Amino acid sequence: MSTNRTQKAMDNYRNFIDGKWIESTSSRAVSNINPANTEDVIGTVKQASREEARAAVEAAAAAFHGWRATPAPSRGRIVGRAARLLEENKEELAQILTREEGKTIAESRGELQRSINVAEFCAGESRRMNGETIQSELPANFAYTIKQPLGVVACVTPWNFPVAIPVWKIAPALVAGNAVVFKPATLTPATAVRIVEIFAEAGIPPGVLNLVLGSGSEAGDEIINHPAVKAVSFTGSNQVGIRLYEEVSRRGAKVQCEMGGKNPVVILEDADLDLAVESTAQGAFGSSGQRCTATSRAVVVNDVADEFVDRISRRAQSMRIGDGMDPQTEMGPTVDESQFNTVLQYIDIGREDGATLVCGGSRATGDGLDKGFFVNPTIFDHVTPDMRVAREEIFGPVLSVLRVKNFEEAMQVANDTEYGLSSSIFSNDAARIFRFVDEIETGMTHINSPTTGGEAHIPFGGIKGTGIGDREQGSTALDFYTELKVVYVDYTGRKREGNLY
Ligand code: NAP
Ligand code: MG
Repeated sequence: MSTNRTQKAMDNYRNFIDGKWIESTSSRAVSNINPANTEDVIGTVKQASREEARAAVEAAAAAFHGWRATPAPSRGRIVGRAARLLEENKEELAQILTREEGKTIAESRGELQRSINVAEFCAGESRRMNGETIQSELPANFAYTIKQPLGVVACVTPWNFPVAIPVWKIAPALVAGNAVVFKPATLTPATAVRIVEIFAEAGIPPGVLNLVLGSGSEAGDEIINHPAVKAVSFTGSNQVGIRLYEEVSRRGAKVQCEMGGKNPVVILEDADLDLAVESTAQGAFGSSGQRCTATSRAVVVNDVADEFVDRISRRAQSMRIGDGMDPQTEMGPTVDESQFNTVLQYIDIGREDGATLVCGGSRATGDGLDKGFFVNPTIFDHVTPDMRVAREEIFGPVLSVLRVKNFEEAMQVANDTEYGLSSSIFSNDAARIFRFVDEIETGMTHINSPTTGGEAHIPFGGIKGTGIGDREQGSTALDFYTELKVVYVDYTGRKREGNLY
């Protein structure tokens, strides 16, 4: 991609409607700020109006029929081309991602690779949009199923994985034959613009993929409530997601919501403690704790709790905090001032509720850190299940340690949450590991590895308060974006005897 295009994307972000980059007429502008250095203003975005959001939906509705009629393997070929363009532009996109969201450059490269893998996988799925053939109770009859697209689909995404999450929604939606309106988080417009540029360059026809940069409460609200939008795939907070679910499902449209987490790691007495400490630190403090799958509760049996807390607090204190662009940095900033304040408030709440602050607990300062939204990796010990730091998603580098007597109590404490996204266990006892797998109430679980991480060809999603609707990615990636049609075929040529119900 030429530098010119990048410069344009970096300066003044525009909406992409019906194949054209259109400057918003809105007077409300928002700056895109580097959270590692607030003096670095990356660009500005005018917040799309409701009319502009409607225009995007209408463009998608008009483009849908042509795209639906395009054979799935041809749609997949375009998505495959987008995968190659993502690969060619990987480093540039990774740098934009670090600059606007704050995660380390290694984390950004990992996120880009995940996006490339997802796009490649979805391209392949275009040749596998198969139904089934089904035997009939009647002679010379059979039935079969076909998968068909839904129409206009809205993809509403959060700021914490601003490349991977949009790609894992847009790619399967397009392969399935839908037209898309993409509404990214306000905090991450630059990556959103680059993703759409790449899909457009890959050959997605005008109107089939549209980008609306606007606030959730206005442009987002207009999109999700538009009657032409047949489905909404949302990833974000529970607060927004549940309301969105109520509104969209009321008119009978499909909804998929992937929301918050309060992911536990269970550490038993026979665990490899070195591995448990390193994996928990990675899960809790990686991406500054701003992953939906971040480890936020360590449920540790008493026998090893003192040693675990001692070791992980030393690891937390040794973490190199700084600008994610520096390859030495292990943990970047929180994403913006509001998130930064939320994390510091939760740290106060933990203290007030009587948890023991082991390390961190404050803003990270010195060495240029004052210019950004840096928080020291924080660990609370002796957290009880009723405390707010054990119950609420903080979305920052804060780990709560809950001490338990034994495996039974660990299971009970791990499941004592409204959320159900991810979990993990550290143990070498196969019987207890498999009991954990059976009984843990999460959509994904990890054995002897962090609660974070996933692969493009493996389904992703949560249960309980975390997830509503079909799983994303993997063998289930196209489920949400397709409708199943059942076809009965009778080749007897005769009037049917008797009744079939
Ligand atoms: P958020 O505040 O819920 O926002 C998510 C998206 O919804 C943004 O694009 C937002 O736009 C939009 N939005 C807000 N209000 C809306 C409305 N009334 N109508 C339509 N759209 C609306 O979440 P976030 O702060 O960006 O992301 C962090 C959250 O995402 C955390 O809770 C995290 O756990 C969750 N998450 C979950 C997963 C998962 O797979 N389970 C993955 C990643 C993140 P604006 O940006 O303009 O407000
Ligand atoms: Mg920003």
